[in-house]
Amino acid sequence: MARLVMKFGGTSVANIERIRNVAAHVRREVEAGYQVAVVVSAMSGKTNELVGWVQDSSKIYDPREYDAVVASGEQVTSGLLALVLQEMGIPARSWQGWQVPVLTSDAHGSARIESIDPARLNAGFAKGEVAVIAGFQGMHAETGRLTTLGRGGSDTSAVAVAAAIGAERCDIYTDVDGVYTTDPRVVPKARKLDKVSFEEMLEMASLGSKVLQVRSVEIAMLHKVRTFVRSSFDDPADPRPGTLICEEEEIVEQQVVTGIAFSKDEAQITLRRVADKPGVAAAIFGPLADQNINVDMIIQVVSGNTGNGESMTTDMTFTVQAADYERAMALLTKLKLQIAYQAIEGATDVVKISAIGVGMRSHAGVAARAFRALAEKGVNIRAITTSEIKFSVLIDKDYTELAVRTLHSLYGLDKVA
Ligand code: ASP
Ligand code: MG
Repeated sequence: MARLVMKFGGTSVANIERIRNVAAHVRREVEAGYQVAVVVSAMSGKTNELVGWVQDSSKIYDPREYDAVVASGEQVTSGLLALVLQEMGIPARSWQGWQVPVLTSDAHGSARIESIDPARLNAGFAKGEVAVIAGFQGMHAETGRLTTLGRGGSDTSAVAVAAAIGAERCDIYTDVDGVYTTDPRVVPKARKLDKVSFEEMLEMASLGSKVLQVRSVEIAMLHKVRTFVRSSFDDPADPRPGTLICEEEEIVEQQVVTGIAFSKDEAQITLRRVADKPGVAAAIFGPLADQNINVDMIIQVVSGNTGNGESMTTDMTFTVQAADYERAMALLTKLKLQIAYQAIEGATDVVKISAIGVGMRSHAGVAARAFRALAEKGVNIRAITTSEIKFSVLIDKDYTELAVRTLHSLYGLDKVA
């Protein structure tokens, strides 16, 4: 019998009425002959509330107890959905991460799934039972402690379960009807994509699109899990397919640019007049890496030769995640003498805007067109990075909407009215 994973996000299970609606979607697939594993999130807002309670209880909290608390949201919804399915006459049971078991690393709060043994789930399928699995949680085998997978981690649970049980596909039900060319709240002319490649989706998720957790796309790509993003608010009797995330070869009509992502989660740091000699980059970025601070865009400019025998200096500008900004500034300030720079400057009112498309591999000048279009709108670019299938620009936050809309039109992504 073919198998299917259906994942439902927080808004889709926000109350009992919505959980009944979810159960109607599940019933449709059971009646179509699938063996179904459902992965559920916590009710919307629940995880935030639980995180808040942890923070109120303890300033520097034990991450193992954080996991014990925040994983409970998913425990509730898995039990509730199993009850509602049973009441509809569909055999079902709930599974906590440790019961499956979903084994993870011990990085509490952002653990990685290491393995999922499908044996117990298989035994349930053999009995004709729907498996309702609590997303977002697992267990570290050596310590036996409960872990969670990082915010948005139920997506990752779902794709990993799909890979483990050999599901034909993984349907991620959410409150939007698919993956869009950009955020429709910013660009009303954004279009829903029918298909998007794993690689593009991975870039979109990494560069700010909030539809899927990055790790879920990595797993889908690695195990070639055909993954759909679709709406749980469609009529359960007549749902639309949503957006398919699949291999590039399956996509016939390929655009040069597939989507525009943006992230306001950025901060810029500039070190002025750093000695321009071998080892400076290591002196700056080594200590940041040691503190687990990820650096993204880096620009180094030669800022001049004094002409009177003093050595050359350079300006070094780079970006870090906004959440790491204070830590990075404090660390670099402490290392001022060691790194030997003259001044440090920082900015948090910045946004990173990225254009993504596998078509960039075979087309030249794609980014150059964007630089021209942004210049014409008077948008100043603070930093640029490019790679094979994307480029990103860092600009002032105030220009977010203007820049996203400009690029969206430039690459022909606007919906035709
Ligand atoms: N409930 C968890 C969160 O809000 C996991 C998820 O919904 O994917 O991050
Ligand atoms: Mg989510």
